[in-house]
Amino acid sequence: ATAPLGANVIPIINKLQDIFAQLGSSSTIELPQVAVVGSQSSGKSSVLEALVGRDFLPRGSDICTRRPLVLQLLQIKKKSDSASSDGTEDEYGEFLHLPGKRFYDFNDIRKEIQAETDREAGGNKGVSDKQIRLKIFSPNVLDITLVDLPGITKVPVGDQPSDIEARIRTMIMSYIRLPSCLILAVTPANADLANSDALQIAGNADPDGYRTIGVITKLDIMDRGTDARKFLLGKVIPLKLGYVGVVNRSQEDIMFNRTIKDALVAEEKFFRSRPVYNELADRCGVPQLAKKLNQILVQHIKTLLPGLKSRISSMLTTVAKEHASYGEITESKAGMGALVLNILSKYSEAFSSMIEGKNEEMSTS
Ligand code: GDP
Ligand code: MG
Repeated sequence: ATAPLGANVIPIINKLQDIFAQLGSSSTIELPQVAVVGSQSSGKSSVLEALVGRDFLPRGSDICTRRPLVLQLLQIKKKSDSASSDGTEDEYGEFLHLPGKRFYDFNDIRKEIQAETDREAGGNKGVSDKQIRLKIFSPNVLDITLVDLPGITKVPVGDQPSDIEARIRTMIMSYIRLPSCLILAVTPANADLANSDALQIAGNADPDGYRTIGVITKLDIMDRGTDARKFLLGKVIPLKLGYVGVVNRSQEDIMFNRTIKDALVAEEKFFRSRPVYNELADRCGVPQLAKKLNQILVQHIKTLLPGLKSRISSMLTTVAKEHASYGEITESKAGMGALVLNILSKYSEAFSSMIEGKNEEMSTS
């Protein structure tokens, strides 16, 4: 399955990366980090998995995510020659605590996350703020960091200390207060939406709402006769970046090993069969969430462009000066002219496709 996250962004970043390579610069485009917050079992890990398009995180009705998981996605070249291949066979994961060991089976990644969680936080529901760091190498991802966080919980269970809620809140805040962190505030639709822990803590970290996206999960198990329309429209708690409603896999789906691909098909069918969500199509479904994130990332890259442009200009000036001191060598002069032209045209090409992409997005949303 191709990761929905990054569809519009990967080509832009690749182009800009090409330009840097031509200039002999090793600098890369820094994308903001994306973190999920919300109460326990709200569906945070499920949302991240759906965005990545692979199955590898512990999920369940109990507390599963008990340490922060910093998930670094890294794009690699597709190895296999077959045109029909989607590149998933080239994907692998590697943990910081197990350097050099490549996990090609994503079920083994999940098992290792569980084992490593137990090593640090014990086997009895304990929570630790010590990170697990995992890199996923894949031809289908953009270079971005996603953070899966333990959920907010109120009543201590198992080995949890009496101040578990305060500890988890502090842990979450340490990630989402960074101005460069995009926040996915995950609220299950079968709970009281107006009392969302996710929106409350996101509001503390990002009071102006410039980097918070509201995600409403579990639309499929709302009380019969109710729907999340008002909420998705921002009529209950307004959010600048708005809301997206999703349907992820249920515990039963997980038990029966239903794939993410099948779950996406089922999600689409769900929204199609519910007339209340028909006119909210741009706010419903994991692909829409990915699209929204992509738009924000493109916007972010655009704000970096003036800085990149001036860096390129000053590099070109340096090269031109160097060249002037060897003025008589006309052959290299021609070569230099071609190089400059090439760089400038790539730059403007990348820039204009970004603008076009943006306009396209604007007119459809
Ligand atoms: P987290 O604790 O916030 O990371 O939540 P998980 O992703 O582990 O999900 C908690 C439980 O809710 C799991 O059993 C999931 O299968 C289930 N779940 C998550 N999202 C949905 C959804 O949209 N619909 C349904 N029916 N179940 C969901
Ligand atoms: Mg989780």
